This record gives sequence, C-alpha cells and structure tokens, in this order.
Amino acid sequence: MNMSTWIKVALGIVLCLTQCHGKKDYSGDQVLTIYPASEEQVKFVQRLPEADFWSPKYAEEVNIEKPVDVLIPRHVLGNVKESLGEEDISYKVMIEDVQAAMDNQVKGRMSRAGHELVHDYNVYHPVEEIEQWMADISAEYPSLVTYEQLGVSTEGRNMHMMTISTNPDNPAILIDCTFHAREWISPAFCQCFTRNLLEGYGTDPLFTKQLNSLTYYIIPLINPDGYKYSWDEERLWRKTRSKYEGDECYGTDANRNCDANYGGEGSSGDSCSITYRGPYVESEPEVKAFADFTRAHLSKIMAYVSVHSYSQLVVLPRSYTGVPTPTLDVLMKYAKQAADEIYRVHGTVYTYGQGSSSLYFVSGGSKDFAYDIGVPWTCTLELRDTGEYGFLLPEDQIEPVCVETTAALRSFSDAAIELWLNRD
Ligand SMILES: [Zn+2]
Repeated sequence: MNMSTWIKVALGIVLCLTQCHGKKDYSGDQVLTIYPASEEQVKFVQRLPEADFWSPKYAEEVNIEKPVDVLIPRHVLGNVKESLGEEDISYKVMIEDVQAAMDNQVKGRMSRAGHELVHDYNVYHPVEEIEQWMADISAEYPSLVTYEQLGVSTEGRNMHMMTISTNPDNPAILIDCTFHAREWISPAFCQCFTRNLLEGYGTDPLFTKQLNSLTYYIIPLINPDGYKYSWDEERLWRKTRSKYEGDECYGTDANRNCDANYGGEGSSGDSCSITYRGPYVESEPEVKAFADFTRAHLSKIMAYVSVHSYSQLVVLPRSYTGVPTPTLDVLMKYAKQAADEIYRVHGTVYTYGQGSSSLYFVSGGSKDFAYDIGVPWTCTLELRDTGEYGFLLPEDQIEPVCVETTAALRSFSDAAIELWLNRD
C-alpha cells in the first residue's frame, strides 16, 4: 500500500467513525399485510423468520379474524413471499420500501431545516427539540404552566411534566405520550394538544371552561431514552434502554412494567422480546416516576389517557382479563362519545371496547394500573392509521390527527369534570 492509499484508508476510518455509526438501514425491507384464513395458515404466519410484527404486536396474537401487518427484512423477503404463495396464503405489500417511508417521514423537516424560528408542529421532533419546546412554551405561559421534573431515565435524561392549571384545587386529567418509542405521532400529538389548550384559554369558550375546571398533567416524553434511540439508531425501537444482569438484550416494554397483573398473559419474560416486562414490577425508572406521581395525586386524577399508535382504537380497561370491568358501561359511554367526536371532524373511524376483547391481552399496562388504583376513567388511545403507513405516518397527517384527537381529549375532559362532580 502506498502513502496515498494509506491516507485514503485512514480518512475512510475517520469518516466512518463520525458517520457510519451503525444507524439501522431498512432499505428494501417491506411491510406485508397477510390474511391467514385457517388455523394452519395462522401457525405458518406465526413462524415467519425474522418477522417484526406491527399489528398484532407479536406472533402469539395472530388469528384468522384480523389481517396481520408484519415487517420482513430484505434478505428473507423473497423466500417469505415464495412460501406464502406455496401455502396459498393471501397477502399484499403494505409498505414497498420501509427506508423510503422512513425518509418520507422527515422530508418536510429536512427541507425546512435552518429556517425554524418558531416550533413547527407539523414535523416530527427529536428529543432535544421537544425538551426545548417544553421549556419555551412553559416560559411563554407562566401563569398557566408549571414545568417540573418528574424523574430521571435510565440513561440520565430528565423526564419533564407540564401542569397546566388555573386552580390547584381542580380535579385533573393525566395525559402521557411516547410509552413506545417508535410511535412518533404520539409525542407530536402531545405537543400540538398542549399548544391548542394554551392558545385556546381565553379565546376558545370550551377550552376556557374546561381549563377553569380541570388541571392537565401532560407528559410528552415518558420514554425519552427509547425515543432518542428511535431517532439516532433504530427507527422501529419500541422499548426503554435499560439492560439487566443476566439479560441478553436491551430494553423493557414500559407498558408491560406497571403494577397491573404484572407478569401475566400478554407480556414476555424474554429480554429480547418487544413485550419484555422487565425483571420486576416498576423496574424502569420512567415507569416508577409515572406510577409514583399517579399514586400521590390519586385523589385528584379523574381521567388518564395514554397516547399510542396505531389502530384507531379507544382501548378500555382491563386488558389482562376477559372478565368485564365493573364500570364498563360508564367507560363504554365515554369511549363512544370520544369516538363520535373524532368521527365528526374528518370521518375517521375509531372503534372501542375493553382491551382484552377489542385488541389483545396485555399485562402490566399503564391504563390498567391507573384504573386498578382508582382512577375512574382510563384508556389507551391508539391513533392513526389502520394499516397504510402504520408507525411511519407521514408529516402531513400530524395536523389532521391533532385536530381530531383534540376533539377526543375535549370529550375526555368533560367526562373527567362530570366524574368529579358526581363523586361520592
Ligand atoms: Zn404503543
């Protein structure tokens, strides 16, 4: 090797150290929607190699009633399609090229880079920008917002919460976003809802009335480590970023780590599973901080909404048992009201029901934890869509999602106030 070749190699290594740090490339990967039509076909789909199940979330929940959205990596794609054909299992391609869909999700953001003087609510933001936005908007409305640290994540990030209130004696609604890192529409919604609420106070009669009667606790980034990882390393990362002695893989599913039938059906003991429940209940500092806060403010919290995606669902407690929840009638009433409000905005159809029957079994979930300790109205909201873009919802859908979901939150707020006035 001569001197100039050595220099080129050395430069290549330096360049690689700064640029090719292993951000996962999904070029050529596809998401398929598969329609298994018999128990045999279900079993076949459950065993697909290297499959990342998007909906349902894991192989065991695949059944003949619902289509299955699943990401298949490029190096096994040909074989998988061939074998589906051989087994006579029908499918369609939902996402042609996963990396292209990911690039499309930040297209507007990239084209506007450097021009942003104000926070742009129509693009997705990384963790640092959301943190800055929280500090900024709290400073902008000092008489309405208290900005405080809720806890510290595994990797040492401060988890912040905004309390938006006109009277400390008011009952409260607790809203969190980003339990699952790859569901980017969730924190985008938390941001635009906060803006709507703050701008609406004093100008919009309904928001003004609601904020005069109700305190809003809003946690936009409950899983900041996982969210950061989904931006920098692996776009489809879902879990936290903890790792425990004896465990092979990183990350706990925060929504399996709560104190609600912890360890039961719909959670995994395998650290490499996307539904890993962690080594013990509330092992995740993020979950512990959320749970401690909820317990400490239980007398005031009338409603709790955890914002996820995707499937367009209002999921009611409980997800860990098929036994109907004692207050299911009331919950169904409020869920229907919210779904109706969403439908009125753009005609987007949401379905609703008890989690174990409308979706799948989940143990250790946050909405069941909140319900079990006494919050009367709790749900998980699964935002758009129902299987066109899945987790890779384009930027131009942020605004319509924001408007329709704000309508649902207004409905939840009314329910919270009603529950407070009618409490024993
Ligand atoms: Zn989720």
